[in-house]
Amino acid sequence: MRFTRDYSAEIDRLKNEIETADAIVIGAGAGLSTAAGFTYSGERLQKYFGDFVEKYGFRDMYSGGFYPFPTPEEQWAYWSRYIYINRYMDVDNGTYKRLFELVKGKEYFVLTTNVDHQFQKAGFDKHRLFYTQGDYGLWQCSEPCHQKTYDNEETVRKMFEQQKNMRVPSELVPKCPVCGKPMRMNLRADDTFVEDDGWHNAAERYDEFLRRHDGLHILFLELGVGMNTPVIIKYPFWKMTYANPKAVYVCVNYGEAYAPDEIAGQSICINGDIHEVLNVLA
Ligand SMILES: [Zn+2]
Repeated sequence: MRFTRDYSAEIDRLKNEIETADAIVIGAGAGLSTAAGFTYSGERLQKYFGDFVEKYGFRDMYSGGFYPFPTPEEQWAYWSRYIYINRYMDVDNGTYKRLFELVKGKEYFVLTTNVDHQFQKAGFDKHRLFYTQGDYGLWQCSEPCHQKTYDNEETVRKMFEQQKNMRVPSELVPKCPVCGKPMRMNLRADDTFVEDDGWHNAAERYDEFLRRHDGLHILFLELGVGMNTPVIIKYPFWKMTYANPKAVYVCVNYGEAYAPDEIAGQSICINGDIHEVLNVLA
């Protein structure tokens, strides 16, 4: 395992790589959104979910997301706040925008497990993005009876504004337009996750991007990817770097920045806050 060497030397190497790479593949995990200000506990939890915390003792927003609420009205009171503050509200402290400034003129593609839509909000081209795990802004049939997703912005805004005593009005509870069963979030939790046309097109564009730059000087820029789901970004980045002597792997992570021995000579590891690292790079 290769851990961080000299911080500023690694930053200089990264700067040089961003300037000289033929293509940049950004792999982004939860740590990037945390650095951008999307915290799911502490002050933000208290501010928006104080009543739910008091009633159920939730320690963070995620745990509430899995809670079996007694009624759909209460469930959607919870979820509409969750979606609104993490998807539609402006939160980014500049982290995503700074990242965009770094790569906007380059040949880039983004692979991410984040579902908060921040890449598009910061200006990234949606044809260069692959959100593998879904999007807070989309609903699907809970069965699912068909493979389509639905934009939820209008209803979520209404739910957020009109809820009272931890309940949304019953007429706002979303039902599948085809079978009438409840709708749910388009988030990958199990095999009922709907991969719609948009998902498949993005997957195809990502494969095509990799094929087109095969064997070239590719920079795999991994930001805030932990060990929860390494099979989506981290392990493939390691493999593709190992298979291509011209490829460079970069791991920016607070506390978990390392690369395996086999690709140590092709790796840059930066143990630091992503927001600060991007500031220094800019
Ligand atoms: Zn249905």
